[in-house]
Amino acid sequence: MSTKDASLASVIESLRVKQDKPLKLSDHDPAATLGWDKEAAKLELEDVKVRIDVLQQRLFAEEQRSLLLVLQAMDAAGKDGTIRNILAGLNPAGIKVSSFGVPGGPEVQHDYLWRVHAAAPSKGLIGIFNRSHYEDVLVVRVKQFVPKSVWSKRYDHIKAFEELLDDEGTKVVKCFLNVSQDEQRKRLQERVDDPEKRWKFRMGDLEDRKLWPEFQEAYTDALAKTSTDKAPWYVVPADRNWVRNLAVAKILLHHLEEMKPQLPPEEEGIDGLVVT
Ligand code: ADP
Repeated sequence: MSTKDASLASVIESLRVKQDKPLKLSDHDPAATLGWDKEAAKLELEDVKVRIDVLQQRLFAEEQRSLLLVLQAMDAAGKDGTIRNILAGLNPAGIKVSSFGVPGGPEVQHDYLWRVHAAAPSKGLIGIFNRSHYEDVLVVRVKQFVPKSVWSKRYDHIKAFEELLDDEGTKVVKCFLNVSQDEQRKRLQERVDDPEKRWKFRMGDLEDRKLWPEFQEAYTDALAKTSTDKAPWYVVPADRNWVRNLAVAKILLHHLEEMKPQLPPEEEGIDGLVVT
């Protein structure tokens, strides 16, 4: 293993939520730099993106498997910014971004996994979930939209659902963008103050902010109960955008490398062919 690969593997390992260890989010510093330097990290991100690009092309050409990256976070942790930064420069035809808001229309006529299953990436694609089925054990639990007897069964459903995806060729990788309460305050204030950002602000964000401890508890449970080998969770420090972007990019790269997507076999007779 090269030094580069060894350092990638050790960062991934340090952020992964382990199945056999109790999770305490307070042990994860949202402002951590992971030992990286800002300027070097920006350059490295470009390198990581080039490597992701090559593997994405192979995954697309192979057309046998897919990867689903789930992003979950409190408001203003930077889900949109992460998606913009990491995916810029990749082949848009090979990416499917799906966002999940308050369910409406036919979504409420079905079970909570219906809409997410329908949005799962087809073979060859990288899918990104901006929020996901985890809302149904997060906001739904914290705001008591359904009783405990209902949401408490969902961790097992989710594990089984993600195992099904994995068994059928979709690698599931999940990142919790871990922003601090103080950094969230600054970012929400910026949204209020900046006319270009105000459209992102909803009064409801303040209600969720008041429920911070309840959300932290719900996140802790969700991550601890559903981080598996097949569908691991990562706690990504999100107070510094440059750390967050590089960490998520590295996690994505690591899993694409593990998948080893292969170019399809070429047609007979192409080798050495001179095109006239
Ligand atoms: P975002 O905050 O992700 O940029 P929005 O401003 O559209 O996007 O907010 C989406 C809202 O939908 C969030 O408040 C989220 O908690 C809520 N939401 C998502 N899924 C569900 C769900 N299953 N049940 C209730 N609310 C949900």
